Amino acid sequence: MFRAITPTLRRWFAHRCAVCSIAPGAPVCAGCAADFFPADAVRCAQCALRLARAGDAVVCGRCLRETPRYDATFALADYAPPVDGMVIALKFGHRLELARVFGELLAERMGERLPRDTLLAPVPLAFERHAERGFNQAREIARIVARRLALPLAADALARVKHGVPQERLTLAARRRNVRGAFAARADVRGRTVVVVDDVMTSGATLDEVAAVLKRAGAARVLNLVVARTP
Ligand SMILES: [Zn+2]
Ligand SMILES: [Zn+2]
Repeated sequence: MFRAITPTLRRWFAHRCAVCSIAPGAPVCAGCAADFFPADAVRCAQCALRLARAGDAVVCGRCLRETPRYDATFALADYAPPVDGMVIALKFGHRLELARVFGELLAERMGERLPRDTLLAPVPLAFERHAERGFNQAREIARIVARRLALPLAADALARVKHGVPQERLTLAARRRNVRGAFAARADVRGRTVVVVDDVMTSGATLDEVAAVLKRAGAARVLNLVVARTP
């Protein structure tokens, strides 16, 4: 019986919102998009930190004090429920269909703003993590964005050349030390706009290091595209 019902259910869910599973709308319904992926959220233009006040081209205090090496960041959502749970389900629960949800939303929101010379470069996972997980969520998300926007995906543009410890429990200074020298550019990025894709941006230490590596390799501009930003 279940076997007979599964394809029908799958079809039903395919046209339902990925957040509430009830309202029609793909990848998410209008209500969930407004609640959890608000297009009008005010964020720092450089690091996408959520800001309280509205205004144009606002940069947060931290970016003013110490300018990151990346030029701008676009975040779809805050790293808060339900988006944090969706990211965890993608990474640890192998819910790869969520990469499609995030990728489509990113493409929808960013399509117009990305220059045509853009190269999409996912942040690589540490080797051990890739081995145990079997996939890199950033690469899966970037693949969808690339397909939707017909932009080149440079899946191996960035390589991990040093393996630090997981960043989660480190202070900001320790995070910076931990990622220093961890990446290398493996594609010709000279004069290009490189859009670095990742799932979550926390301190920004990893993305800052990645941007430095890409700029040293000749990238003209480095933009970050992330699903969720820690508030
Ligand atoms: Zn919904
Ligand atoms: Zn900022």
